[in-house]
Amino acid sequence: MGIEGIESQVVYPRRSARRINRTSLVVTLCAILGLLGSLMLTMTENLSSIKLNNASITTDTTGTSGQTTLTSAAASALPKSSLVNAQSPIVPFPTLLWQQIAVLQAHNRFLYTGNRYLPEIALTFDDGPNPYYTPQVLAILKQFGIKATFFCVGRQVARYPDLVKQEYADGNLVGNHSWSHPNLALLSGSEIVSQINLTSDAIQQAIGVRPTFFRPPYGVINARVLAEANLLSLTTIIWNDEALDWTTPGTDVIVSRILNLAADGAIILLHDGGGDRSQTIAALPTIITSLQARGFQFVTLQQMLKDMPDLPASTQTPVSEPTTVSPTP
Ligand code: ZN
Repeated sequence: MGIEGIESQVVYPRRSARRINRTSLVVTLCAILGLLGSLMLTMTENLSSIKLNNASITTDTTGTSGQTTLTSAAASALPKSSLVNAQSPIVPFPTLLWQQIAVLQAHNRFLYTGNRYLPEIALTFDDGPNPYYTPQVLAILKQFGIKATFFCVGRQVARYPDLVKQEYADGNLVGNHSWSHPNLALLSGSEIVSQINLTSDAIQQAIGVRPTFFRPPYGVINARVLAEANLLSLTTIIWNDEALDWTTPGTDVIVSRILNLAADGAIILLHDGGGDRSQTIAALPTIITSLQARGFQFVTLQQMLKDMPDLPASTQTPVSEPTTVSPTP
């Protein structure tokens, strides 16, 4: 319900000054609650990434739960034909979220970081293309001779296909960030597919290549979102370094947050669309020069994926069948 709706319900015939005061107080409180509500909604992007990090840790430690677990090693029990093919769905695919994350991670199909032993960093820009900010980001990337990844919103791609063409022509990677930036976890399977496919269609129409990288809006996932992303053979990308630049905390704050979190294999989240991004643009040259001075190399997510450590040998060989004890004759 919008604030207007709340007002229309709480504004009664005004019988006295006292009544008016009370009504104004209620309206003001409702307005404050409404604002807090929308702020919480906007903050989901941050909170969800924390959840995801926890989820991925959980997948490593669930072996003691007594349930049947599907760890990275157990994922190797899958038919070999389904392994290490970024262009086809993983089959069979589990139904529980933590199992899905484990299987996807075992195939490098779900990343919130790159190779933690290589001085590589991926800059990612979400929510564009934007006619004002995207050209500025592209100019800065060009000036420093580096490449980045753009997670584009489909309806923006349809509006500004030339900007996406430019991103791609400059050697950057273009990824899928849904059609209209909804919380995909609240949608049905067919709605999720439609959000992703419409966007991939628009990107393919703009640059001639269908994206294989996908970032869910707000970083929010559930089992349905991952199941559909798997069926569409996408690699899902989260992040592990962000400045909350969308809250416009000031250029210096954006710079220091990013630099403090930067490490080998960092995936940095920034925005080139969806609001006032002037602070992000202003922060970008310092972020780039400081990280280059620390010896980091900027790569696209495609490169980062190529440079991921080889899957452990245990995940390459099918696990042998459990030994069955033959009955004594
Ligand atoms: Zn976004």
